[in-house]
Amino acid sequence: MIEIDGSKGEGGGQILRSSLSLSMITGTPFELMRLRGGRAKPGLARQHLTCVMAAKQICDATVEGDELKSQHLIFRPGRVRNGDFRFSIGTAGSTTLVAQTVLPALLMACGPSSLIIEGGTHNTMAPPFDFLQRSFLPLVARMGPTVFAEMKHYGFYPNGGGQIELLIKPPDKWRGLKLLERGQLVPSVTAIVSRLPASIGQRECRTICKKSNWPMTSSRVIEVENPCGPGNVVLIELKSAGVTEIFSGVGELGVRAEKVARRVLQEAEEFLATDVPVGPHLADQLLLPMAIAATHGAHSRFRTLSLTPHSQTHIDIIRRFLDIEVVTSEISSNTLEVVVRRVE
Ligand code: ATP
Repeated sequence: MIEIDGSKGEGGGQILRSSLSLSMITGTPFELMRLRGGRAKPGLARQHLTCVMAAKQICDATVEGDELKSQHLIFRPGRVRNGDFRFSIGTAGSTTLVAQTVLPALLMACGPSSLIIEGGTHNTMAPPFDFLQRSFLPLVARMGPTVFAEMKHYGFYPNGGGQIELLIKPPDKWRGLKLLERGQLVPSVTAIVSRLPASIGQRECRTICKKSNWPMTSSRVIEVENPCGPGNVVLIELKSAGVTEIFSGVGELGVRAEKVARRVLQEAEEFLATDVPVGPHLADQLLLPMAIAATHGAHSRFRTLSLTPHSQTHIDIIRRFLDIEVVTSEISSNTLEVVVRRVE
């Protein structure tokens, strides 16, 4: 039984989600104390509880403490099974974070699976669906698996009502990833508005294109059909031959569209000021599939910005379950090369 202090490091939901993923794929039970102890409202919120229930169902686990607000969880995994699964968060909680929790286990299962998850598709502090579909999953697919994601319906806070579907086929063989060069970037901007005036999206596109000198023709506004509730997100997509990076900002009541747009652009500009191909969120999320590939002898290597406390915490958790090492070497004051490999 691995004992984990959920208040250490970043002290958030990632410690829970990665522990669930890693426990499922290794068959190792864990006890998580002070769950989300670093957050103002600690314990299991709906999204986290859905992750626990989904993991429990997929690997037939025995679980103690699987209730809302619980700050103590014991998870004893059984055998992972593939199949057709459907999970509903019941709030606008992030569907992409639930998907990422169970994806590793389904990638190591005996056969293909399908996954339908209902909740939020574009949340603050979580990968927007577009990031999952066009940034994260294509890289996972290059490591061997076949994975497709489709959004059936948009879901924004607070109404939710979103739905995503994933089709997952485990790999015959795992391959490592090498993401060292950035190459030529093609930028595009997408503003999505749901039951809100299209002018909000147009102002966001205009702000970003004007400040960055990108042509307005590289931007578009999507008005959600049959919206479940109001919502807005703006995405800056930077596509290159090897990697698509997506920076996003969710519109908030009382915050001007121009401000939302400037915040996203600032994040993208920090990335653009360097020459690395992988941004901070992608780095964070690639660590787990790369670690899995490493346990199969397939090493990965990528260049990114300095690792965030979130990524450092993530590495600590992965190393509790897997015999892998993450070696970093500095390229410049704010960029790194990261190697993920099996401990020989
Ligand atoms: P808590 O409520 O405890 O903060 P949480 O469940 O929201 O927890 P975090 O621990 O903050 O989770 O982890 C959020 C995850 O979402 C991280 O993997 C992070 O990289 C990712 N993420 C956050 N914002 C974005 C974004 N804009 N684009 C892509 N990924 C993101």
